[in-house]
Amino acid sequence: MNKNINFESIIDFYKNSSLEELSKKADSICRENYGNKVFLRGLIEFSNYCKMDCLYCGIRKSNTKVRRYRLTEEEILSTVKMGFNMGFRTFVLQSGEDEFFTTKVMAGIIDKIKNATAGETAITLSCGVRSKSDYKTFKEAGADRYLLRFETSDPILHSYLRNGIPLKSRLRALYALKELGYETGSGYMLGLPGETEKIRIENALLCAKLELDMVGIGPFIPHPDTPLANSKKMPLELTLRATALLRLLLPETNIPATTAAGSLRPDGRERMLAAGANVLMPNLTPSPYRRNYLLYPGKI
Ligand code: SAH
Ligand code: SF4
Repeated sequence: MNKNINFESIIDFYKNSSLEELSKKADSICRENYGNKVFLRGLIEFSNYCKMDCLYCGIRKSNTKVRRYRLTEEEILSTVKMGFNMGFRTFVLQSGEDEFFTTKVMAGIIDKIKNATAGETAITLSCGVRSKSDYKTFKEAGADRYLLRFETSDPILHSYLRNGIPLKSRLRALYALKELGYETGSGYMLGLPGETEKIRIENALLCAKLELDMVGIGPFIPHPDTPLANSKKMPLELTLRATALLRLLLPETNIPATTAAGSLRPDGRERMLAAGANVLMPNLTPSPYRRNYLLYPGKI
């Protein structure tokens, strides 16, 4: 943790400031570190199969309405090559927890991407909890970064929302990734049912404690084919305040302006950028599949 940063005074400032005041401060810190640059990462959603049943997620195992797909190795590689030619140098490979992609298959894909791009790309994986030995194999094959949100720092809420999976299993995975030398990203959703302002502050403090290289946050958007279909949609302001708080706590971390923010409100991503975010993740998933990776409705 950065010893020069006084977390208590930041939390005080957060509690006593308007969104405008918070954003102004966060934006100036972001500009001090990154100027007016925004980094781009190409997102490839390579499988919507998932063995997990997170209550909030549209592609959860129990949602039988989902048309499941997996990109072939060739499709993944051709998507990377297309993105590379467009100028992308970081790719995020995201999926459900899909055992079809065994340790060997994943390692093969990572290796081929590195070879096809002459080692000029950074590979970020975001495919859920796997064993430490899997993470090690992926790292050795060339993976650089891993994104695994803890979703909420409240252990009781976490177990409920993730259908019995405890918070500590995600934290264990995050510590394993850090030990293996991954640039590690995590994050959470805002506006989950049962979430309080205290939990939101704890979420941000956990990100600081984990000394994350990347923090992905976004509004929870209820999906009609999940057990949380009737939950309330909360205003974007929660996400914007959280973005600014994270920028104050973690001045140098990478914070994407997420798709969920842009799906909740048309100007959601721009507003996250103005509140301290510095990354955009355009979706490169081939269009026939894209509509089936519906974590939440209205996904842009
Ligand atoms: N299976 C992997 C990656 C895919 S899910 C994993 O769970 O880590 C990617 C992210 O989508 C999750 O971390 C979650 O924060 C977000 N997500 C899922 N359902 C959502 C919803 N209804 N609204 C907003 N974000 C959602
Ligand atoms: Fe699977 Fe991730 Fe969705 Fe949970 S959030 S059901 S692990 S895809």
